[in-house]
Amino acid sequence: MSRLLWATALMLALSLPAACNAKAAPAPTPEAPASGVLTPSASGIKIVFHPDYLLVYSFDWAAEAGRIQAILHELQGFYEFVKPEPASQEDMRAVHTQSLIGRTFLDPGEVLATGAAGGTSPFTGELYKIAPLAAGGAILAAELAVQGQVTFGLIRPPGHHASADYSYGECYLNNIAIAVTKLLNEKKIERALIVDFDVHPGDGTEAIFRDDGRVTYYGILPGDRIQQLKGMEDFLKEKTDYDILAVSAGFDGAEAEGGGGVLETEDFTTIGKLLKEAAERNSGGRRFAVLEGGYNQEVLGKNVKAFLEGFE
Ligand SMILES: [Zn+2]
Repeated sequence: MSRLLWATALMLALSLPAACNAKAAPAPTPEAPASGVLTPSASGIKIVFHPDYLLVYSFDWAAEAGRIQAILHELQGFYEFVKPEPASQEDMRAVHTQSLIGRTFLDPGEVLATGAAGGTSPFTGELYKIAPLAAGGAILAAELAVQGQVTFGLIRPPGHHASADYSYGECYLNNIAIAVTKLLNEKKIERALIVDFDVHPGDGTEAIFRDDGRVTYYGILPGDRIQQLKGMEDFLKEKTDYDILAVSAGFDGAEAEGGGGVLETEDFTTIGKLLKEAAERNSGGRRFAVLEGGYNQEVLGKNVKAFLEGFE
């Protein structure tokens, strides 16, 4: 897509009313993807985003209309945007079985008829487009991060429940696992720490790296606000041997999300700050985060923004 088309698509996307904020606002200034060439940004975090993430590709919460717009409305004007390419088959195969990748790309009618989607929701024909694009968004976020540019992947579908051969929980491809594996395979890093603060454990990520000594997975522990933050702080003080900090950023642990969440908006700033300080101590500041869960469109954008304020 040309720079002009990309800018037009983003402006069109932003002109759609978000559920929580229908007022018109100026579009951010999107940039062409950096694709391997880094110009260090003095303006902090870059947002990895593609207009196709607005597609409603399924019937689950992560795919809901307005969800991504609600975040865009909070971030616009504050950050520079970069546009990813879809992950290659080779990048997906480094984490997932050919069988899972094949199911992701099946004709939707066939999937519905055969139940081949496993534990995932039924989906529309757009999934073949958006799932590899989400993985590609995580890859670009990771590639920029390893060069010193802090990034946030404003991507969907989420990925942390997808294991090598099984997709469920609104996740199809494990975006963060694909990104970290690519950095490892290309010898850009030797060790990674993945921190996941979604209220649901990233069981897919954990399973993928269970026998891989190069990658450590930490999921936020259950408890009240203080216990969750303290648990993460203590872990981050002890864990020091990693070359990059990768973050599965889920916002469904917010109290306003319901479902037992306990975190306030300011807690996401604290989490972002803890992660930033840990990366600065241990991985030369190299860090990136990608969106996982978070569905309440009235608070999601504010919580993402609060996290980025601590993380940048
Ligand atoms: Zn979740």
